[in-house]
Amino acid sequence: MPRFGSHVSISKGYLEAAKAALAQGGSSFQYFPKNPRSLVVKTVNRADAARCALFCRDNGLFSIAHSPYPTNLASEDPAQQDQTAASLINDLEIAEMCGSVGVVVHFGIYKGKDPLQGYKNIIQCLDKTLSAWQGKAKLLIENQAGDHALMGTTFEELVQIRSLARYPEKIAFCLDTCHLFASGVWSEPENLSFAKHARKLGYMEHLAAVHMNDSVYPSGSRRDRHAAVGEGCIGEEGLSAFLKLPELQAIPVVLETRKDQDGTHSDQIRLLKHWLE
Ligand SMILES: [Zn+2]
Repeated sequence: MPRFGSHVSISKGYLEAAKAALAQGGSSFQYFPKNPRSLVVKTVNRADAARCALFCRDNGLFSIAHSPYPTNLASEDPAQQDQTAASLINDLEIAEMCGSVGVVVHFGIYKGKDPLQGYKNIIQCLDKTLSAWQGKAKLLIENQAGDHALMGTTFEELVQIRSLARYPEKIAFCLDTCHLFASGVWSEPENLSFAKHARKLGYMEHLAAVHMNDSVYPSGSRRDRHAAVGEGCIGEEGLSAFLKLPELQAIPVVLETRKDQDGTHSDQIRLLKHWLE
């Protein structure tokens, strides 16, 4: 069984986030290690983070952290690249203290004229970050929906970036189902041939987490709007088939969807479990 959960708030600290994740019936969760709108490095309450890690270990909870929104691996500007690397190291430190699997980072948005330069920037930024990182937590690169550009939507790119980086062993993947569908890589809900392809490319063996989202918009729309599971264009048929992929067993499968009526994700988590019965 995959480890279901959702994104939870750390407004009351890391330990309380873990408790909320367990209370809603989850066995995993995602959190922002710091303010999601800034790259400013955070001084962490180490005692709280350590209590979170202990609570997760005692209760069999897995967690992943999500880097702040301004994090952009593809940025051209050296000053911004330094700031991004420093922020990511900070995220990795917090993730490690909280006992998390890793830090999700978006592939990156390149605004220049030469796409090859964009890929080089991403590799450079990964190398800069990971040369200064000795912990166990990994960077988990997430596939994109294609709403900014097509860059970062295919398994080929994700696998290539990882293999060209200096420390591939410190990099794994986070697969977002909404992005996969919206980008067109997942073309029809009932057709899971992309998984076979991803396996052949060596992507699936490094899959460490899933963002479990339905998609408001159809396949190929390149529009990134998450829908509650079963309420979007992928729907129950597609998502329940996806959940049966063998690579999902025992990894965090985390909802980034609207909350249920009770303000948690317990209904959607129950629904995911129900689909596997
Ligand atoms: Zn996502």
